[in-house]
Amino acid sequence: MAPSLPKVIIHGGAGTALHDQGGLGAVRADLHRIVEQVYQRAQDGAPAVECVVLGCQLLEDTPRFNAGHGSVLQSDGQVRMSAALMDGATQRFSGVINVSRVQHPIDLATFLQPAADRVLSDLGAMELARELAIPLFDPVTDLRLREWMQERANHFQSPMAGVVAEPTPGDTNARRGTIGVVVLDTAGQLAAGTSTGGKGLERIGRVSDSAMPAGNYANGLAAISCTGIGEDIIDECLAARIVVRVTDGMSIEAAFVKSFAEATANQRDFGAIGLSHLGEIAWGKTSDMLLAAYHTGSTLGDTLDLPAGTQTGVISP
Ligand code: ASP
Repeated sequence: MAPSLPKVIIHGGAGTALHDQGGLGAVRADLHRIVEQVYQRAQDGAPAVECVVLGCQLLEDTPRFNAGHGSVLQSDGQVRMSAALMDGATQRFSGVINVSRVQHPIDLATFLQPAADRVLSDLGAMELARELAIPLFDPVTDLRLREWMQERANHFQSPMAGVVAEPTPGDTNARRGTIGVVVLDTAGQLAAGTSTGGKGLERIGRVSDSAMPAGNYANGLAAISCTGIGEDIIDECLAARIVVRVTDGMSIEAAFVKSFAEATANQRDFGAIGLSHLGEIAWGKTSDMLLAAYHTGSTLGDTLDLPAGTQTGVISP
């Protein structure tokens, strides 16, 4: 098959509006920088999985986003991260749940792709990191620590999830900003990756959707990464739901429209990004904002200026 133009879409979370335009500009700059880098790698002919891993690493390294370095703290003041990788070509899912002290949780998910045991949680994931001699890394930033201490001073009154990415001064609801990357490579293969620090302030042991097929799923026809309230994503089984709809013959556009209409009726709070094997770039949200950016091959765009409320969109090649 002749090589086709690759496509890339990434996200840095979903939630209520960022009030500060400066904050929005900084988020946009980070997303555009990273989507360009991932696109470049895809254009050089790298497989979708490799491009997805690169994008996740770059986003995990950006403290603005709630994944890897800059992950939010849980109720006990600890960071526990989850990440998943799904190769659409092989339809294989791998992931880690509630891992600590690693720089790139997505690397552990990548290592597990060919393994017999493909999803590991806390102790097992830590043991794997030790086995692979991955250096210890402290993902806590001053900002996240300050947020947590403020919550503690307020006796943890805030709702567990709030605004995407970086807070405005005085805004303590800044605990989402999970990241995700979806790529269609030049060989026409799809992959999806998602990485998170969780909702923030959650109970010890809470499991995020990000390392479940509800939050990250792909096959040969479609690939999806989700963000938002994990419990809502799990209840809709969102990523797998959209992929199955496309597999059963629906267009990705129709699959997003139907899935987000259902989500709105069920009062869910989340967003999703995706790609079809035809090169259609898709996004949807019920939340106020979805921080996503995409590269079509000719244009770079984002969803940062979408109005609040349910929206879906598709860019056809
Ligand atoms: N879905 C993530 C979780 O609930 C949070 C997020 O997407 O920001 O763990």
